[in-house]
Amino acid sequence: MGYEARPMPGRQRTTVGLVGNDGRVDSSTISGLAGVAEIIHVSKPYKQVSREWKAEPTRIPLPDGTVIGDREVIVMAGPCSVESEEQILLAARQVKAAGATVLRAGAFKPRSSPYSFQGMGKRGLELLELARQETGLMIITEAMDLEGLELVAESADIIQLGARSMQNYPLLKACGKLRKPVMVKRGIAATITEWLLSAEYILAEGNPNVMLCERGIRSFDTTTRNLFDLSAIAVVHGLSHLPIIADPSHGTGHRDMVPPMARAAVAAGADGLLVEVHPNPERAMSDGGQSLYPEQFEKMMREVGAIAEVIGRSVATVGSAV
Ligand code: PEP
Ligand code: MN
Repeated sequence: MGYEARPMPGRQRTTVGLVGNDGRVDSSTISGLAGVAEIIHVSKPYKQVSREWKAEPTRIPLPDGTVIGDREVIVMAGPCSVESEEQILLAARQVKAAGATVLRAGAFKPRSSPYSFQGMGKRGLELLELARQETGLMIITEAMDLEGLELVAESADIIQLGARSMQNYPLLKACGKLRKPVMVKRGIAATITEWLLSAEYILAEGNPNVMLCERGIRSFDTTTRNLFDLSAIAVVHGLSHLPIIADPSHGTGHRDMVPPMARAAVAAGADGLLVEVHPNPERAMSDGGQSLYPEQFEKMMREVGAIAEVIGRSVATVGSAV
């Protein structure tokens, strides 16, 4: 019929997804075939990311054995940007000591102003690798363009696509050609459908290891940097099998609002947190005002650990999965 058939073996039956159709497929010729138990028409514009397509949650394994999208809540923490060897190593030790499993920090930074710090680039990636070597933390860092993606894919354990890149379709397609886990942040004015369609681009190219990240959307109210859409966590879990990570740092823009919203996100069922923590936020080259002090982060980790337990989950720790 001109469609591509993608088998997805399950415990009791195998789902075969038909890719390539934009409308309703005439199923009369398929329904009579031997072995066909049921035909499900995916009603949503996004197909492969939908719960209709795949009911079981997607589990994304990291090289250290940690799994994102399972019972454990994964905490990714670190500074907004890699600034120096000293800064990133200290940050890595501090977030590890507090219980994080993934180190976050941008080497390539998408900044609103061309005069702001643009990141350390390739050297920043080398420093992240050094931090992983020393601490065993997994690395998440952003790729902004196709050239950068190649470099980032070599160093990172998770590739971050930022809010500004959610609609960079060549970049989404290129991520789909890889097998590395990819985290797609919600665009500042993206509807949930548009956001899920961005993730669909990556799955459609063949990479199933995709997670989403709610980081707040633009609103009329300037009290917070963005309007952190807590409900997106429940909405996404209903519509999609992909894991969802919450970023209360960009979601609020103020460090004192980060721990309460991190607690709320875990209570709401987030599969992970992405939190900015800096050894010395006053000296940060980007996002200092929303970066937690290490002591604040330690306290937040104890709190989210307690909340995770109440809902039958736990916060992953380095080595807990291996
Ligand atoms: C970041 O994580 O530092 C970042 C730039 O985030 P966002 O793309 O959500 O603005
Ligand atoms: Mn930031």
